[in-house]
Amino acid sequence: MNDAMRRTAAIALLILGGAALWRAGNGTPASASANDAMVATIAAARERAAANDPRLKPAWRFEEGGWIYVHLEGDPGAVGYQHGYLLAPEIEDGFAAVSAGMMHSTKRDWEFFRKAAREMLWPKIDAEYQQELQGIVDGLRARTGSKLDVYDIAAFNAFEELPDYYVPWLNKREKAANAPNLKSPGNCSAFVATGSWTKDGQIVMAHNNWTNYKNGERWRIVFDIAPKNGYRLLMDGFPGVIASDDDFGINSDGLMATETTITQFEGWDPNGKAEFVRARKALQYAGSIDEYTNIMLDGNNGGYANDWLLGDRKTGEIAQLELGLKAHKLWRTKDGVLAGSNWARDAKVLKEDTPEFDPNNMESSPNARRARWEELLNENKGKIDVALAEKMLGDHADTAEKKEDADERTLCGHVDGSPRGVKEWDWQPHYPGGAVQGKATDATMAKEMRIAAHMGHPCGGDFLAKPFLAAHPEYAWQEPYLRDMHAGPWTEFRSGQTKKELKQISKE
Ligand SMILES: [Zn+2]
Repeated sequence: MNDAMRRTAAIALLILGGAALWRAGNGTPASASANDAMVATIAAARERAAANDPRLKPAWRFEEGGWIYVHLEGDPGAVGYQHGYLLAPEIEDGFAAVSAGMMHSTKRDWEFFRKAAREMLWPKIDAEYQQELQGIVDGLRARTGSKLDVYDIAAFNAFEELPDYYVPWLNKREKAANAPNLKSPGNCSAFVATGSWTKDGQIVMAHNNWTNYKNGERWRIVFDIAPKNGYRLLMDGFPGVIASDDDFGINSDGLMATETTITQFEGWDPNGKAEFVRARKALQYAGSIDEYTNIMLDGNNGGYANDWLLGDRKTGEIAQLELGLKAHKLWRTKDGVLAGSNWARDAKVLKEDTPEFDPNNMESSPNARRARWEELLNENKGKIDVALAEKMLGDHADTAEKKEDADERTLCGHVDGSPRGVKEWDWQPHYPGGAVQGKATDATMAKEMRIAAHMGHPCGGDFLAKPFLAAHPEYAWQEPYLRDMHAGPWTEFRSGQTKKELKQISKE
């Protein structure tokens, strides 16, 4: 059969199945199990029809080391369709977990977020990313019959910016009574080093993603995207989201990018462009540190405000773009190291964008980790490479306690192990969050479009949901979504990779 015939046959099956179901629902004594079987037949026919869609031809998926690798290729609609189709089960699952968290923390219903996406974000999203988001919906629906539409997916893509940036800004403006205490997140520990700091004199970049374990355990996609326009990109990411979003990625023109989030950031511009769009665009289109900076600044809405750590492997130069809303600053060097652990350092950004942040409290998570980065990186000056970076991401030295203690102040964060939590992010004692995965690369690897990635705590420790929930019933609302987070091995991924070409990086 040719493709067209196959599609026709599949559609005919779909109609037949539907008719049978309609009869079953109209008083014929069909049993519930027969009904289920018909539903399954319809679903199978739909999947078969979708699987033959020519847009899927250049795409593939495989799983390794706790990660799901997807190769997406083509025009924006096709890239989106492949994304939606190949990751459909993970998107449905991730959407449920993330949207539950968004509604729980903000006390707003889902319609509120849909409206924000439709009215505020959507009109300013570049056409190509509107097409990609619509493609995700099309692929998802074709595979699962999902009811999610493009505004659900757009709101979901903004999960790092709507709840903790837009909502607190709106609550303040509306003088909302009993508004929840929403704090911008403090995600991640990262560094980028170059020149005399690294073993080979070229760039090394590493990052671990801090978030709640509920979302973090699902943050396990490696996206290899060959877009019709712009550069080839390789990044980690979340199912259904078009940007990396914890932000670790490289492109084929030599740009290397990661970030850590600015703690206690306040501000939002409703007329700006969503951060997830700018971040994706920057990784796809920037061939230099300047181009990256310009794309991030164009339409800056203040959402998910980060300290961007950048590298250009073509020049060996690294940079830090501290992107506030009222203020921002760019530092750059060809010989140095720039580290991040959720603290702003520019005097103007501190004053205007993070008025509550105390840079001198050495007991806070951002500052204690800042001190640890300084110690670790100085101790290892001239020796830094990817293997060492991987070790650093799993570091458990608490500089406030001056001992090893996996907690909220260590580069590999384990806030569930802390009786203090992180008050700057409104993470209560024993909050189930911390470092959920790690990635590292260097200039040589980036040239070959390779990254190393580790699912779960970079130290190798597992998080187990059941005993945690038994010990901490205050987090019982997460029970439907909170799962074990097992640490996988460091695994290497590269652009264009297929499962049989995998190279396992053995550790310990
Ligand atoms: Zn750890």
